[in-house]
Amino acid sequence: IKFLMLKLKLLANINQSLSHEIVAEVLKAYGYELVLPEKPDEIVRKVKKAGKGEQWKGRSPIVTFMGHVDHGKTSLLDMIRRTKVAESEHGGITQHIGAYEVKLPRGRITFLDTPGHEAFTAMRARGANATDIVVLVVAADDGIMPQTIEAYDHAKAAGVPIIVAMNKIDKPQANVDRLKKQLGSIGLLPEDWGGKTIAVGVSAKTGEGIDHLLEMILLEAEMLELKAPYDMEASGVVIEAKMSKGRGPVATILVQQGVLKEGDFVIAGYQSGRVRAMFNDLRQPIEEALPSQPVEVTGLSGVPEAGDHFYVVRDERKAREIVEQKQEELRRQRLEPLHKNHLRLEDLHKEIKAGVIKQLNIILKADVQGSLEAIEDSLNKIGSSEVQISVMHKGVGPINSSDVILADASNAIIIGFHVEADDQAKELAQKEDIDIRTYRVIYEIFNDMKAALEGMLAPKI
Ligand code: GDP
Repeated sequence: IKFLMLKLKLLANINQSLSHEIVAEVLKAYGYELVLPEKPDEIVRKVKKAGKGEQWKGRSPIVTFMGHVDHGKTSLLDMIRRTKVAESEHGGITQHIGAYEVKLPRGRITFLDTPGHEAFTAMRARGANATDIVVLVVAADDGIMPQTIEAYDHAKAAGVPIIVAMNKIDKPQANVDRLKKQLGSIGLLPEDWGGKTIAVGVSAKTGEGIDHLLEMILLEAEMLELKAPYDMEASGVVIEAKMSKGRGPVATILVQQGVLKEGDFVIAGYQSGRVRAMFNDLRQPIEEALPSQPVEVTGLSGVPEAGDHFYVVRDERKAREIVEQKQEELRRQRLEPLHKNHLRLEDLHKEIKAGVIKQLNIILKADVQGSLEAIEDSLNKIGSSEVQISVMHKGVGPINSSDVILADASNAIIIGFHVEADDQAKELAQKEDIDIRTYRVIYEIFNDMKAALEGMLAPKI
């Protein structure tokens, strides 16, 4: 913060989002290098210390299933677990720990067991990017539904590659050709139709196509060349955590960097402790956990939250100090709720001038499809050379909590035309400080946008 204020003359606070350029500058000043992924809007995943040359080695992909409700996410996850995990482990019992690993002749895959885009984006909003590949599940009898689009936009916003699983092909009503056509219309034209998207026909009921789907996941993973440093203190993300009667706090964590060892002292969110025991998804005790490996750990002082980061600290005394500080901060925040500093439209101009914002992300909801298209077209036209306007998700229907979660993770504002936010969304928006603006007249949207771009918009009361 001091560096930002003194050297870059930026008004800064602890919860502020910064552009890549500014982050790179700050890192450089402290001897670090910013490594950006190939895809421009992918969240920065790796920051490595320049010149130190840790050993980066391959790691297996982490996969999340998303899609419309009832299209078969849970069934596919169950089917894969039942057939693949048991098969390779000669009848090993899989334990539900929030994630599981499949070992195939060509490589391993880790599946996150909490399917759905809300859980995915909620983690992302907390800065935890665990997923490497999204499998978008679409039932071939129903075809693309509103939540399919929602899930697709959430995956796109995270910059995560997408593979489509066309599920329920065992059903007589399944129509794969119709589905492929629909996929083409939303920008996911399958490869065999001349597009770029891998789309695999599967059935969670008969198991047909599952092997092919797993192969495609591994192929995509090879192209991503996923790597992680191994010879450093472990860090990663909490997937799930609970209080267990006999064992105390139990957390499932996913190691993202380094190797976690039994006896390591870890900080996880507001908790800390020495890793007493570690188990894999087959309930087998293990002594080490490698990057991309989900493990259950015991020994923490309390129950951390899903999405919390964890990291190993060598110096136990220092670790306790850090945790005490964090808990103190938490107490303060409870008294004085954390202002997340999400973008408000009236601050747009200021943030553009400060170089904080180069793209205005908008989530657009309306009562009818026609209005969505019309508003999006016109919004795209009012962007300037200083700021691009990007409608990252649009849909028909009230503003829901999934919209708010996406806005939270992507620093977006939400515009509703002839629709309101539902109660849950309102509550969440208030809590996360998300700017929701609803309109009944189209030209008022553009008036507000233009005024915001020029710094002439009055705050919403
Ligand atoms: P989710 O909401 O996406 O997790 O969907 P579920 O996995 O709960 O599946 C919803 C319903 O579809 C359940 O009744 C499943 O048995 C059924 N289902 C899922 N996959 C298939 C499939 O491939 N074929 C058939 N016939 N039914 C399926």
